[in-house]
Amino acid sequence: MADFLNHCFVCGKEVDPQTTKKNMEINLPVCDVCSGTEEEKKAVADLNEGMADGFVCGCI
Ligand SMILES: [Zn+2]
Repeated sequence: MADFLNHCFVCGKEVDPQTTKKNMEINLPVCDVCSGTEEEKKAVADLNEGMADGFVCGCI
């Protein structure tokens, strides 16, 4: 799970946690390319959904 802290949570690109901004909602780093995009919002929604369920559903 430590990998989450130095990878953009949207595209998975490796980032420097010192210089990369974080998404305030889920407190994970997001790179300049993904910041503020629809992809970012989608990734946040997916993560929030997964946390709410407490498990990963394989049906989608
Ligand atoms: Zn990214």
